[in-house]
Amino acid sequence: MAYCASRFHTVRRLTREVAVGSIMVGGRNPVRIQSMTTSDTQDVAATVRQSVALAEVGCEIVRVTAPNVQAARCLGDIRAGLTAAGWGGIPIVADIHFLPQAAMEAVEHVEKVRVNPGNYADKKRFAVRDYSDADYERELQRLHEAFSPLVKRSRELGRSMRIGTNHGSLSDRIMNRYGDTPLGMVESALEFLRIAESHGFREIILSMKSSNPKVMIEAYRLLVERMDGEDMHYPLHLGVTEAGDGEDGRIKGSIGIGSLLMDGLGDTIRVSLTEDSVYEIPVARALADKAMSLWGKGAQKPEAADSIDPYHFERRVVAELALGSCAVGPEQPPRVIVRAAAAGQAEAALEALRSPLLKDTPAEGLLVPVATAQDLQTLLQVEGLRRADALFLVLELAPGLTPADLAPFLTGASCRVVLLRAFGAADGAPLAAWAALARGTGHILAVDGSPADFIGLSGALAGVGEGALMVTCSGARAEGPEHPVGAYRRITEVLRQAGSRAPIWIRNTAATSVRGDNSFLSRLIEASFLTGSLLCDGIGDLVSIETEADPARSARLSYNVLQGAGARISKAEFVACPSCGRTLFDLQTTTQRIRSQTAHLKGVKIAIMGCIVNGPGEMADADFGYVGGAPGKINLYVGKQCVQYNIPQGDADARLIALIKEHKKWAEPEPAHA
Ligand code: SF4
Repeated sequence: MAYCASRFHTVRRLTREVAVGSIMVGGRNPVRIQSMTTSDTQDVAATVRQSVALAEVGCEIVRVTAPNVQAARCLGDIRAGLTAAGWGGIPIVADIHFLPQAAMEAVEHVEKVRVNPGNYADKKRFAVRDYSDADYERELQRLHEAFSPLVKRSRELGRSMRIGTNHGSLSDRIMNRYGDTPLGMVESALEFLRIAESHGFREIILSMKSSNPKVMIEAYRLLVERMDGEDMHYPLHLGVTEAGDGEDGRIKGSIGIGSLLMDGLGDTIRVSLTEDSVYEIPVARALADKAMSLWGKGAQKPEAADSIDPYHFERRVVAELALGSCAVGPEQPPRVIVRAAAAGQAEAALEALRSPLLKDTPAEGLLVPVATAQDLQTLLQVEGLRRADALFLVLELAPGLTPADLAPFLTGASCRVVLLRAFGAADGAPLAAWAALARGTGHILAVDGSPADFIGLSGALAGVGEGALMVTCSGARAEGPEHPVGAYRRITEVLRQAGSRAPIWIRNTAATSVRGDNSFLSRLIEASFLTGSLLCDGIGDLVSIETEADPARSARLSYNVLQGAGARISKAEFVACPSCGRTLFDLQTTTQRIRSQTAHLKGVKIAIMGCIVNGPGEMADADFGYVGGAPGKINLYVGKQCVQYNIPQGDADARLIALIKEHKKWAEPEPAHA
C-alpha cells in the first residue's frame, strides 16, 4: 500500500529519466519548472514573446496549446522563433485535446506532446450507460487504433509525451465504470500507458490534475502505488489545475504540489495561476527549492508506516474540547489562533482583530508569550479578555514558570485559558503537575514537543485523560532530518498508539519552515506545506500561522489555507483556469470582476473557465459556471448543467447574478465587503 518510501522524511522516488528535448526530467535531475503561454498559438510573434519571457524568468519547459491542425502547424515557426531569440534549449510541449490530427502535426515540430486521455479521440457526450466487458474492450480497441499512430511517430522522432489526466474531463467510459474518482483518473492514464508500452514507447511523463488538492493528492498517490505494482517508474508532472489567482491560487497550488513533493513525488511542476504566466515561475521555483533542500536527508532504513489511509480522506477523530465561545471536536471546523508578540501587545492585537473586515475570518484564540509573573499581571488588565465574547487565551509559558506562579491567574481568569508548555521525553512528572493544575482550574494544557518527546510522554498523556489536553509541535524541539509534516504525522501515530484522542494544534513557526526566508511568498508556501498537507491527511484541529507579525494578516492567511485545503469555508470560492491559447475572453479581468461582485457569498463556488475543452466536469463541484462558449459569448452553468447558452459577454455578469439569486444563494454584500 505504500506510495512513498517514508511519510516522515522526504525520500525521493526514483523515476526513469525522460528527455524533453535537451531537458532531462526524472531520475536524479532537479524538479523542472514549467508553464504555459496564453496567447493565440497562431499569433506566432506573441507566442514566441511569451515563451521568451517565461524562459527569462526561469521556466525550463514551455507548453503551447494546439487546438487544431493550423495551430499545430504554427508550432514549427514558434520553435524557430524561440531558437532565433537564443532560447533554442527550451523545449516546447504541444497541448492537445480531442484531435489526433493536431497531435500528429504537432509532434513533427515540438519536443513533447501532451494528450488528455479523457478526450483524445473522444467526444464527451456525458452519456449514462452501462458498458459491458465486451463494450469496454471494444472502446479500448478503438482507442488503441486512434492513439497508436501518435505513439509510433513520437518514438520515430525521439519525442516524449505527457499523459495528462484531468479530474474534470474523464471519458464517458471511465466515468461510467469508475466514476468521478481518483481511481478513475488513474485507470484513465494506465489505459493510455499500456498502449504506449505495447509499442515499446516509454518516454512518458504522467499527471493527475484536479482543482481540488485533496483529489489531486489522492490520485497521484494511487497512481504511484499502481505503477509500483506494475514495475513502472514514470516521472510525474505535478499541478493543481484551475487554482485561481492571488493568494488563494498560490495556496491551493502549494498545498497540492507541496504535499506530494514532501513525500518525494514529483519530477516537474506547473503552478497554474489566473495571472500572467511569468508570475507562476517564482512560486514553482520556491516550491521546488524547498522540497529539494530535503533530498539526501531522508530516512536511511525502511520505516514503519503510519495508520492513515493515504487514498481516502478521513478526518482524525478527536475528543471534544470546550474553549469558551467555541469548541474543538470532530464536528467542529479547525480553530484559528493568532499570536501577540508580547503580553503588552495583547490589547492592541485584540483591537486589530475586532476589525469588521475580519467578520468572516475571526481569530478564536490569542496566543501570548509569558515569561514572568509581571506578564500575567499585564494580561489581567486587558479589557478585551473580559468581554463576554472573548477569545480563548493561550499562554506560552517560559520554562522557569511553575504551576504555583500560574494558579492565581487561572483562578481569576474570565476567559478559557490554554497553558502551552514544552515538555521533554522525561518530563512525565511535570506534565502531570501542569495537567492537574489545568484540570483543577477548568482550563486546558497544550503539550509542545517533538515526536521523540511524545514517545517518552505517552504514558503521562494517557494519565491526563480527555477534555483538558491538546498537543502541538512548534518545531523548535524537532530533531534530525524529519520535516515538520513528518513530525506531526509521527506525533499523530504516537497518540493513536497511546489511545489518545487529544486534538492537534498545527503551529506554523519560523522553526517549522522547511527552508524559510522572510518573503511573504515563502511564508505562505510554508504554511500551505505544513497546514495544508496535514489537513488533507485529516490531521489538525487548531491552526496558528505565527510567522505573520500582523494579527489580522495571520488570521486571514490561516483562513485562506483552511479554505484551500477544503477544511473551513469562509468566503466564496473561485475555480478559474489559468487561460491559454484557447481562451475566449480575458480571464484575469473577468475573474477579478466577478470576484468583486460575489466574493461575499460565503460557501458559494463559482467556476470561471476560458473554454469548455476540459468539459463541465472540470468545474467539478462548483455551484455555478461562467464559461467561454464562442468568441464574445458566454455559457452559464448550474452545477455541471449548461442552463444559458451564448449570452453576449456584456450581459453575462448580470445573468450570472440573477442565476445565483434564482437558486437562493445570493446575499446582499454588507458594508465591510462593499
Ligand atoms: S479551460 Fe482555460 S486553460 Fe483549459 S483549455 Fe480552456 S481556456 Fe485553456
